[in-house]
Amino acid sequence: MRRRGGPVVGGEGTAIRTLVEIVQQAGVTDPRLLEAVRATPRGHFVSPEFALRADRDEPIPIGHDQPTSQPSLVARMIDGLQLSGTEVVLEIGTGCGYMTALLARLARRVYSVERHADLAELARANLESSDVTNAEIVVGDGSLGLPSHAPFDAVIVSATAAEVPGPLVEQLAEGGRLVMPIHAREADLVTLFVKRHGRLQRQRLLLPACFVPLVQGP
Ligand code: SAH
Repeated sequence: MRRRGGPVVGGEGTAIRTLVEIVQQAGVTDPRLLEAVRATPRGHFVSPEFALRADRDEPIPIGHDQPTSQPSLVARMIDGLQLSGTEVVLEIGTGCGYMTALLARLARRVYSVERHADLAELARANLESSDVTNAEIVVGDGSLGLPSHAPFDAVIVSATAAEVPGPLVEQLAEGGRLVMPIHAREADLVTLFVKRHGRLQRQRLLLPACFVPLVQGP
């Protein structure tokens, strides 16, 4: 039951937190990012059978054995990019387009690369129905980046590998930020990097998480 202006109340009277509250409690304070979460109904991005789960902080299957990550993780990754609204962003691993929509509300333009053509098509439809007009989805191997639209002010990767693929480093602008889960023995370490003097410098660990592999090559 949803009461206007108040919390959503569960069957036994327990207050269910909204996604904005969940993201806030995960440590996100940027008002633009919180507003983007509020303005982007996650239920529009997943299959109707999962609609009830869309308002919870859980990953949801989107097909091809791939999940859309839990919103707190998506938001904390985006928070690491510190977008101000002027940036051109490259996203690798579009999935259903939920992260793409948030990025598009925070940056000037988003290019997103997805290797599964049908997921790319799903994301395009989801973005269109969410009135997102400044994001372009490209089908391909994101580990190669998107040289035709480089350089990018920020790069964000939603799949894990042992290291950041070279083309993504090359296509990141000087001073630009890159967030990617780096595969380690215990977990995938979602790491913030900054490009300085032409090289990628590790800035800090954002959080440990669990990601699907970045599939490289054909
Ligand atoms: N950001 C998305 C994450 C989806 S899961 C979301 O929250 O909805 C990760 C996605 O990365 C999957 O859709 C998978 O197909 C894609 N992927 C994996 N390797 C890739 C590659 N080399 N190039 C492009 N996309 C890739």
